[in-house]
Amino acid sequence: MQQQLYSVPEAVNETPNTYAPGTPEREELQKEIAGARSGMADIPMFIGGREIRTGKKVAMHPPHDLSHTLGHYHQGDAEHVSMAIDEALKARRAWAKMPWRERAAIFLKAAALISGPYRSKINAATMLGQSKTVYQSEIDAVCELADFLRYNVQYMTQIFTHQPKSTPEAWNRIEQRPLEGFVFALSPFNFTAIAGNLPTAPAMMGNVVVWKPANTQIYSANVIMEVLREAGLPDGVINMVFVSGPVAGDLIFSHRDFAGIHFTGSTEVFREIWKTTGNNIASYRSYPRIVGETGGKDFVLAHASAKPTQVATALSRGAFEYQGQKCSAASRAYISRSIWEDVRKLMLDQISSFSIGGPEDFSNFFTAVIDEKAFSKLTRVIDKVKKDDSVTIISGGGYDKSKGYFIEPTVILTPDPCYFTMIHELFGPILTIYVFEDEKYEETLDLIDRTSLYGLTGAVFARDRHAVNQATSRLANAAGNFYINDKPTGAVVGHQPFGGSRASGTNDKAGSILNLHRWVSPRTIKETFLPPEDYRYPHQGTL
Ligand code: NAD
Repeated sequence: MQQQLYSVPEAVNETPNTYAPGTPEREELQKEIAGARSGMADIPMFIGGREIRTGKKVAMHPPHDLSHTLGHYHQGDAEHVSMAIDEALKARRAWAKMPWRERAAIFLKAAALISGPYRSKINAATMLGQSKTVYQSEIDAVCELADFLRYNVQYMTQIFTHQPKSTPEAWNRIEQRPLEGFVFALSPFNFTAIAGNLPTAPAMMGNVVVWKPANTQIYSANVIMEVLREAGLPDGVINMVFVSGPVAGDLIFSHRDFAGIHFTGSTEVFREIWKTTGNNIASYRSYPRIVGETGGKDFVLAHASAKPTQVATALSRGAFEYQGQKCSAASRAYISRSIWEDVRKLMLDQISSFSIGGPEDFSNFFTAVIDEKAFSKLTRVIDKVKKDDSVTIISGGGYDKSKGYFIEPTVILTPDPCYFTMIHELFGPILTIYVFEDEKYEETLDLIDRTSLYGLTGAVFARDRHAVNQATSRLANAAGNFYINDKPTGAVVGHQPFGGSRASGTNDKAGSILNLHRWVSPRTIKETFLPPEDYRYPHQGTL
């Protein structure tokens, strides 16, 4: 068969639909949501191309409507993790040998399915299962996931194209080999796009994968799996299991063929994983690739020259979209004294106008937090703060789980820049504000840099260019994604490659060529056309 050097379609970001009243996409999505609500999903694991139903059914409820049941998923155990590893390893040889263009076509088709016929289905699943408003779901489950798939295909070809120098006498080539073994994809609840990217990025590069989604994301993970099957992904390449993290970890992290982990989730879990793999290092065939994007304590800094309306909007959106459950959500803010009163008023006006309720009502901006565990953790924090006279809750502080896990958007004002809510990731709708004196801007930069262990996202608002420059330089290591006059959330694939350092992860930048490099192991091949036929060098000669 003739071999060609194909080029792939240039990646173009998916444009979000508006779902404004009267649009056809709104009507279609509303029908899909109604259909999903009236059905009862029965979600199997997917291992080696087979649907696995164990009969151990776990019910799924919308976080904002606990009395409703969306369906069940089938809980697995260690036996299923073992089966998934075996099936992955069985599929490995054929998948690694499949020409890259065929692999590319599968993932490009998956992107087309998501942005086309599956658009409403994946949105409905994300809205109902994870309580995202329509816009939050659209930019995640549709746009970001399609972008990941399309850009990664393009990055893959760039990696293959990159070759070393050669000479007329010797041709040097680099061959990108998939890792020897299987990759474990361990995904969080909060982004459907991340759940899709963690298994597909390594798979695209020729690897086989065991994927364990978070329990609270299984409802939309099932749609991702459906799309991949329809796109033609061969059996065994991505195997989806529903087991507890430790059950999966016990088998996977002690397996000789464990070749890498693609993780997004909390810092605490990632550190445990790193420790375990470190302890087991001698038992692996290769050094596993450890890629993890983890927690954040993301900041907004407003200089005295900042425009209060812009700061207030960045806080309302940056801290409270998706109920603050974004790793990039603004959760600590440092506001210059001279603009504080304006920012406060504008921000509180905006927050008090938030419409709160289930995402099926498209007019809502703010819905419920993900589960009982998150609700009780966050409400414990709020109760503790309420008892503390040294701080003031200037907005929210209420909560109610009679219908769903609702927590009001809560803003704490503290005179102590090292108050515990300024330091620890809470992962919910709680923003803490510290007001600094205008002349203490430089000191505040130091404060921001040393207050938390994380280094994920951060933003500076200023019209004074010296202030922008100072912040950009002094906060060089405080955020892997740094924003100037913009909120610290909403990174777009191909535009703002995402990831942080310090305790926030390995900073391998999801949705960039850097990430894909982690899933291959290059082999350098040198071919000499006229090999020497005498061992002696010229310097050994005599006159
Ligand atoms: P999590 O750490 O609780 O769970 C992530 C995954 O790990 C889930 O699949 C979970 O079941 C599994 N898990 C939990 N305990 C485990 C264990 N002991 N062993 C093995 N696996 C285990 O995170 P989450 O609550 O799903 O997501 C929220 C966290 O993710 C936040 O900390 C957030 O900042 C972070 N996050 C980071 C990014 C980023 O790009 N930096 C993006 C999204 C979310």
